Amino acid sequence: MSTEKAVPVLYLDLDGTVRQGKDDALGRFVNGPEDVVVFPEAVEMMRRWKAGGGRIIGVSNQGGVALGIVAYEKVATAMLETQRQAGGLLDKICFCVHHPKAADPEMARCWCRKPSPGLLIEGALDLARRYGEYYPPYMGLMAGDRAEDQECARLAGLDFMWAADWRREATVLWLTSATAPSRCASSASSAAGCPLRT
Ligand SMILES: [Mg+2]
Ligand SMILES: [Zn+2]
Repeated sequence: MSTEKAVPVLYLDLDGTVRQGKDDALGRFVNGPEDVVVFPEAVEMMRRWKAGGGRIIGVSNQGGVALGIVAYEKVATAMLETQRQAGGLLDKICFCVHHPKAADPEMARCWCRKPSPGLLIEGALDLARRYGEYYPPYMGLMAGDRAEDQECARLAGLDFMWAADWRREATVLWLTSATAPSRCASSASSAAGCPLRT
């Protein structure tokens, strides 16, 4: 335990946060890879978080799978495309394929559909095992565009930011080319200023 490093994790909703969703210019649900349009501002904010030594986990409700609206493979391929457009900055993507209206009880009940915090816990435990780190919630942050994201953050003990505000930080940074506002990272050279204390 004493050798493990405490690392800040940024938990990101995907649709409407990292990539365009129904309420954005895309105007529809992301089903397959052809629908994926990642926001450049999101990539910038992810880049800064990683430069500060943090990890990033994408968390997404994909209940269309349980309802038979979209095939699992299409959702998975869209995740790969998301990761590609994000420059590989996501350490892990976890998605819930369940939906309360599914006929099959196995697909209807779960502990991972947001606002349940299961996706976050699953992702964090996997990365902790892989990297020998631990992820105290007080260091973390979640960004999302819907009430269930906000509630999920609360249940997981995380601070929360609305997606539009989070992405706007990147725009401000570009406009001012200032050095500092993001929570975790201002630049690679200031990684020591990140909350990476033990
Ligand atoms: Mg969303
Ligand atoms: Zn689930």
